[in-house]
Amino acid sequence: MGFKKNEYDVIVVGGGIAGLVCGGYLAKFGKKILIIEKNSQIGGYCSSFEKDKFIFDAGVHGIGGLHETGKTSKMIEELGLSVKFDNRQPHETVFFKNKYAINFWNDIKKTSDELIGYFPQEKQRIEEFINLTLRESPFVLFSKCRNKTFSQILNYFFKEEDLKSIFKIPGGNIGLSSNYVSALSMMALYREFLFNPSKYPIGSMQSFSDSLKNKCQYFGSEILTKKKVVKIIKNDCRYLIMTDDGNSYFSRKLVFNIDPIQAYKIGGSIKAISKFYKIVRFLTISPSAFFINIGLAENKNFSLNNNRLYNLWYFPQDDTSRGYFDLSHKFFASHYIGKHKGVFLSFPSERTLRVLIIAPFQNASYWSENKERISGNIITRAAEFLGGFLKLTKSISITTPIDLYRSTFNYKGACYGLIPATSLNNYYAGFATLDDNLFLCGHWVPNIFGGSGIASVVNRAITCSDFIIKNKKKNEE
Ligand SMILES: Cc1cc2nc3c(=O)[nH]c(=O)nc-3n(C[C@H](O)[C@H](O)[C@H](O)COP(=O)(O)OP(=O)(O)OC[C@H]3O[C@@H](n4cnc5c(N)ncnc54)[C@H](O)[C@@H]3O)c2cc1C
Repeated sequence: MGFKKNEYDVIVVGGGIAGLVCGGYLAKFGKKILIIEKNSQIGGYCSSFEKDKFIFDAGVHGIGGLHETGKTSKMIEELGLSVKFDNRQPHETVFFKNKYAINFWNDIKKTSDELIGYFPQEKQRIEEFINLTLRESPFVLFSKCRNKTFSQILNYFFKEEDLKSIFKIPGGNIGLSSNYVSALSMMALYREFLFNPSKYPIGSMQSFSDSLKNKCQYFGSEILTKKKVVKIIKNDCRYLIMTDDGNSYFSRKLVFNIDPIQAYKIGGSIKAISKFYKIVRFLTISPSAFFINIGLAENKNFSLNNNRLYNLWYFPQDDTSRGYFDLSHKFFASHYIGKHKGVFLSFPSERTLRVLIIAPFQNASYWSENKERISGNIITRAAEFLGGFLKLTKSISITTPIDLYRSTFNYKGACYGLIPATSLNNYYAGFATLDDNLFLCGHWVPNIFGGSGIASVVNRAITCSDFIIKNKKKNEE
């Protein structure tokens, strides 16, 4: 079928990872695709920027789903991405109560031995927990963990409180207390990101997104950057998509890779969108984050790699039992800015590091008044662990929840879209079909297995493209 100018089979709004993966698969299948992204570079939260000659990441610190049967590996192979990953080990370390330093290795036996070394009396239960997480099918996981919180699962398996706390700490990757977070989503996190390692793309996070972009274009997909979608209407079974530069584009099918609140603002006249919005606005969104990217001067006597670290959960106190992901501002002020010590550090390269805490959304004036103080406080915590590195600081870049919102329009700077709490119990699908021609992919799709991160949104994007292709075939029969 011939296409008029500006007319496509499918238009994808938002060039984050999910939008690119979905667009890439559809273009590979031969569809005429347009991806529209408001920023000058694609990738959304999975992008990087340059400051003072350092490359810093804007959001993501590690890519999961890279094991043999992981969805990210499948996507890399099927689309033929040329990305390479840093294989540094251990990929994750939990430093807890100045007493435990547990490393997560590529080799699950090695990780399990470290845990058993500290908790020999829990040997059998640790092995059973790993077995359930890694080796059981999603159906078995589903039947055993459905309707349970992660704390309930940990209480079922273990007696040692310190061991339970150690398992709870990397839950920061989801951002909700283990007392509320769905066990399914935490088990998925352990399977895709922790017991199987997350990895860092050589160069920067941007290189992962760029390799996806190249493949989309190779398969014929068009990608427009620096164009914000401002209005969408449906006319005669066609979608009309308007951008902020006054241009219009048309398609029969539309994929949203943006948050539902914004989707409603720009496309609320479409029945299916307003229906969906009425459901999701009652669900809980994930917290945001506050972080500092630091670039260090070269120094022969000090290298971050000497510490053999990649991602470090530095928790000298046991804050996990108090629900350290409480999202209220009051809790944040007293514990994160004040006495609370827990902080997450990642080391993308030998001369860059990031210090991050989970944070609630506040208005711009709150962050401009407080960001230097909060930043100073959490750098001091990092220095407790890393010693002399502060003297070498050459460049600092602070990111607040407001910055995260502004860069991606994710509602309230939410890191992971909708939070996989028990309120999502009835949502199992990995993508949302709003109607026959309207789809949602990315981390705002309600899903009890969790919206957390790249592995999960890659999975959704593949399922979404699959559905569009199969649906098309069915209609043609
Ligand atoms: C600080 C931080 C750390 C994280 N760490 C990790 C990690 O280590 N590992 C991991 O797996 N996950 C991590 N995550 C989560 C992960 O980044 C997200 O779940 C994932 O990137 C979401 O991808 P997405 O494609 O759904 O959406 P997004 O990345 O949000 O992409 C949406 C895109 O749509 C564009 N857009 C929005 N509105 C419009 C419009 N009107 N017109 C045109 N374009 C528009 C935005 O600019 C953006 O590029 C982290 C998130 C944050 C914030």
